[in-house]
Amino acid sequence: MQIKQTLPQLSNPHMKHLRLTYAFLAIMLISACSGSTTESEETEPAATDPDPSTPTVTQPEFDPFAFASSALTETVVTTSCTLSDGSASTCYEITIAGTPATHEIGAFCPRDIYASADEVGIWFDGNGEVYDVDGEFIQNLAVIYNDSNWQLFDPVTGIVNITDSQIKCEGAARPDVSEELQNHCVECSIDYYNGGVTATYIIPVQPQLASSPSNLGRNDVGVSLSGVAIAPPAPVDAILGAYTIAAFDDCAGHVNPVAGYHYHGSAGCSEIVSENDGHGARMGFALDGFGIYAMLDSQGAESADLDTCRGHSDEVRGYHYHAASVAENMFIGCFSGLTVMLFD
Ligand SMILES: [Zn+2]
Ligand SMILES: [Zn+2]
Repeated sequence: MQIKQTLPQLSNPHMKHLRLTYAFLAIMLISACSGSTTESEETEPAATDPDPSTPTVTQPEFDPFAFASSALTETVVTTSCTLSDGSASTCYEITIAGTPATHEIGAFCPRDIYASADEVGIWFDGNGEVYDVDGEFIQNLAVIYNDSNWQLFDPVTGIVNITDSQIKCEGAARPDVSEELQNHCVECSIDYYNGGVTATYIIPVQPQLASSPSNLGRNDVGVSLSGVAIAPPAPVDAILGAYTIAAFDDCAGHVNPVAGYHYHGSAGCSEIVSENDGHGARMGFALDGFGIYAMLDSQGAESADLDTCRGHSDEVRGYHYHAASVAENMFIGCFSGLTVMLFD
């Protein structure tokens, strides 16, 4: 059944009113149910509000206009969808370009052991360190990882082993990296994949908190405002186990054959919607529809009240997440909201 609409129809205030009416009816039904128990009237508000000290905030809808121009390749449409609690809902179809609208891709690997930090990208392995993939780093790998098998460069010429063809890049991106591609700095050109891999994400129009958080799994975590996939943590154990470094650029993104260019960290390259109250800028959306913002506010401070998913609520943004530091190889800890299970 095709019930797709274009955006102007969706922002029809009558539609919004209908949704609010349904939400109100649902609350009335829940109240009616709890009213049938023996609880007194005074305790009832506590049953629908787990933390009475938190003011009730209106959750903003997912904002399909927040993306950078050219971040999306197709007009945003809505579709009917089923959320992870089984409820029927309305979702947006967001098709990203898969190439960043706000910055260039690269650089990644150093050409030789004399390369300086400004010529190369970065590497992080989830142990709290971010390295420049410069010549010094390449020479120190055996020390950093306490394993003398690391040898990413020719000891005579100082030239670094780089996966400099599509065949080599795809061979090194597999789980079982062949012997001749071990000890390589892995980089794949986006030119092998038509300049970017487009992908469509189905995201609830009205984000809703779930009764309990859910694991991120191995799929994408969300989409950036620059039009790039927000990927799950990079499989650093497998990468290092093959004596490879899957170098990121300074925006904490890199290219693989399946996803094309994707981010593994929030490095400031997609934080394009600034907030006028000093709150960190928005960089993207998680797949449950809640916004992901910069880790730090304009004073350089991190919120102290983040939950295990790295989210919290305020009166302006409702519930939202703050990205982890790049060094942590993650964006958020889990999904606090309902994600999409099925869609038309
Ligand atoms: Zn990756
Ligand atoms: Zn916040």
